[in-house]
Amino acid sequence: MLSAVKRMTELELSGKRVVIREDLNAPIRDGEITSDKRLRAALRTIQFAVERDARVILLSHLGRPAEGASDGAFSLEPVADRLSQLLTSPVMFVKDWLGGIEVEPGSVTLCENVRFETGEKANDEVLARRMAALCEIFVMDAFATAHRSQASTCGIARYAPVACAGPLLIRELDALSKVLENPARPLVAVIGGAKVSSKLSVLSALAGKVDQLIVGGGIANTLLAATGIDVGRSLIEPGRLDYCKSLLAGKFGAASIPLPTDVVVANGLERDTHGTIKLTRDLTNDDMIFDIGPETAAGYCDYIDRAGTILWNGPMGVFEHPEFVHGTRRMAEAIAAGKAFSVAGGGDTLAAVEQFGVGEAISYISTGGGAFLDFIEGKELPAVAVLKERA
Ligand code: ADP
Ligand code: MG
Repeated sequence: MLSAVKRMTELELSGKRVVIREDLNAPIRDGEITSDKRLRAALRTIQFAVERDARVILLSHLGRPAEGASDGAFSLEPVADRLSQLLTSPVMFVKDWLGGIEVEPGSVTLCENVRFETGEKANDEVLARRMAALCEIFVMDAFATAHRSQASTCGIARYAPVACAGPLLIRELDALSKVLENPARPLVAVIGGAKVSSKLSVLSALAGKVDQLIVGGGIANTLLAATGIDVGRSLIEPGRLDYCKSLLAGKFGAASIPLPTDVVVANGLERDTHGTIKLTRDLTNDDMIFDIGPETAAGYCDYIDRAGTILWNGPMGVFEHPEFVHGTRRMAEAIAAGKAFSVAGGGDTLAAVEQFGVGEAISYISTGGGAFLDFIEGKELPAVAVLKERA
């Protein structure tokens, strides 16, 4: 499939205005970047273009600001500073860039947050054409946003004179395709977290592909509720109970879906709150589930130990809180210790991986969350589809 796209590394870049869409959406607290992982991931692509004397223009989003105005809290300016350090050469930063900017060959300019521009999210054609007019070559390199049809990911690729894939995007698509093409069995998907509605939708596609579906977080809660268990005030998606019943009945595929038999409950998430382990059949309408219990974790870890391939997205519980960290920690450690080829993706999943110090032991860390899920579900990523059309 990747043979069908143009590659940045094959093009003549010297002297050309090259717009590269990266994912430089770094977490920022009080103006300080708290993790520069995403910036480091993009470095090789940027350096490649600089070394070939391209006039490099970087586009990225940061956070979820309201469109139509700039908002200092979501400015990419701190990212430009950090990129300058990482590249050991100055990265210019421009707030007003849509009208066109001057860039010298072999230098790098970062444009302000694309999400300040009205029409970015809706993939507005006028905006996309203005972005495209900045460049002679457009490089899509941001896997984590490739599942979104937006002006800076898709529209610009349609209207740029040349549109191609960057090396980071290609590496990511290659790695994930290899895992999915001919995975060592059993293939186990571990899905947890709080984006319940979108993640539940992925399960029907996964049920026909994987051997086991291991669930935690709000996804597990909703499936438990669908079996008639009273999950009290736990996070669930109440509109999807019938869908969950079909899933558990095997309507979408034969994957086994073992459900939690015990959980950790509490009244809330205050710092001094205490978690209580309960069997799921003993839950009452006042309970809130914040983690899987030890018996469930042990059972889940047996599947992990036997797996040939593991796809992991989403924590098992509220791992940010010490009372509810155990389920996610045990799974992370089992995935790290096991012999299976393991792939992890998702913002909070990667935060958990980092917190438990197991990053080195995971076979492949994806930069994508939603894009990672869409890809393993078998969906065509819109930003990749455009690159194929343009090739
Ligand atoms: P990812 O970013 O890895 O895709 P999500 O964003 O879907 O994952 O979910 C991560 C969040 O889910 C974490 O902040 C965690 O605290 C929360 N979470 C996990 N289990 C529960 C639960 N049972 N109830 C409420 N929140 C949960
Ligand atoms: Mg998240």
